[in-house]
Amino acid sequence: MTQARLSSTQVPGPILDVLRRLQEAGHRAYVIGGATRELLSGARPAPQDWDVGTSATPEEVLRLYPKGVATGARFGTITVPTEAGPCEVTTFRVESEYKDARHPDRVTFVRELEEDLRRRDFTVNAMAWDPLADRLVDPTGGIPDLEAGVLRAVGDPLTRFREDGLRPIRAARFAATLGFALEEKTERALPDARTEVGRVAAERVQEELMKMLRAPEPSRGFEVLRRAGLLGVWLPEIEKTIAVPQNRYHAYDVYFHTLYTCDAAPAEKPVVRLAALFHDVGKPETRQEREDGEATFYNHQFVGERMAREAMERLRFSRDLTDRVAHLVRQHMFDYRPQWTDAAVRRFIRSVGVEAIADLFDLRIADNVGNGLKTGFPHYLEELRGRVDATLEAEEALSIRDLEVDGSDVMAALDLPPGPRVGKILDQLLEEVLENPSLNRRERLLERIRQGFSIDTQGSRDLG
Ligand code: ATP
Ligand code: MG
Repeated sequence: MTQARLSSTQVPGPILDVLRRLQEAGHRAYVIGGATRELLSGARPAPQDWDVGTSATPEEVLRLYPKGVATGARFGTITVPTEAGPCEVTTFRVESEYKDARHPDRVTFVRELEEDLRRRDFTVNAMAWDPLADRLVDPTGGIPDLEAGVLRAVGDPLTRFREDGLRPIRAARFAATLGFALEEKTERALPDARTEVGRVAAERVQEELMKMLRAPEPSRGFEVLRRAGLLGVWLPEIEKTIAVPQNRYHAYDVYFHTLYTCDAAPAEKPVVRLAALFHDVGKPETRQEREDGEATFYNHQFVGERMAREAMERLRFSRDLTDRVAHLVRQHMFDYRPQWTDAAVRRFIRSVGVEAIADLFDLRIADNVGNGLKTGFPHYLEELRGRVDATLEAEEALSIRDLEVDGSDVMAALDLPPGPRVGKILDQLLEEVLENPSLNRRERLLERIRQGFSIDTQGSRDLG
């Protein structure tokens, strides 16, 4: 049976030490929550986060682990640093009626542990295991659900969802990460928790979304939200893509195309997964039908960039991540042709940025898979990749930084004060150097500045 698969050798030594020290001091201590679920499902790799549930109070834990730190959001958690990473030790959460009359006997311990487990969200998350005694506690039927691949709320689903509006989002997240189906009553309760879902702190939603995006198929999670009518609560721009028809380049509407692009993007690259999620959000707003009935989406990448920023700000993503994702959305429509000149390749690298090119290619590959036409790998990308690599190896100037002159040279040559004009001249010089790398010699550039810019900032394009 399942329990036979559990062995204390699956738990890192330092985590076993924490359990042992707590138990030797007379407390109960179990591996609890997600780690137990992962161990029981035989998931590879082994759990990274270790949660320990204990009957010891936070003060008692701190006495045993003076280096432990009481950590924020979850009341009663002491984070104990170990060589296997931080171990979160949390006192069993029990109603005050038990707490007030605390008898440290076995019966109380079992009641406390079970009560703690019953406050958890889903049955598969509501199991505890003591690897030292090899004792598994599963009061809500997590094991059969785990074996059947079913995500079932602990207790009455709607009550639990209304207690904490994050739980419906977690349901979607676990549906994606575990690949589980929602138990029927659990799924049916989701729509009625809409108000509560909207009240959750954005940071918590963001965290679940990021976990969902690391799933093999995030689409499973988005589909849970869509079917429950909850997608628009936090991601109205994704909801608006539903049933928006496309054109002959696509087998799916914008919504399913988005989902499949997301699935096809590399799971270990959250930036690309996010960009995939948002890459076509500008389509509903820019859609136009031509006379022949084909749809066009001119400039949807620019509208999409703005909308992606709005969405990510709503979810309180960092500025840096938002910029990187918005940039990929903006750039995703590049249209490589073998006829591109080397200068065109250099301009492409300049506008995308060296650091974003691999991500942009990953996004394009996923976008291609997501169109559903099964046209195979876009081979022109290999050609472009080769030309980009060759350009980078040639170490030609690709940015202002690479020019053999700088702003002070421009100011000295033209007797100019600092100001935007200096930057404009440098931009123009770079444009010309991208076109003709041999211009990037200090003397030639200085001459170009004196000749071309003393009167007219725009300069002339023909340098002979
Ligand atoms: P992961 O492996 O992705 O971290 P996890 O199951 O450990 O998954 P966490 O978000 O780390 O998920 O939460 C740890 C445990 O705490 C869960 O397994 C669950 O038992 C409980 N839990 C977390 N959030 C909630 C919640 N909102 N409501 C009820 N129980 C929760
Ligand atoms: Mg966890």
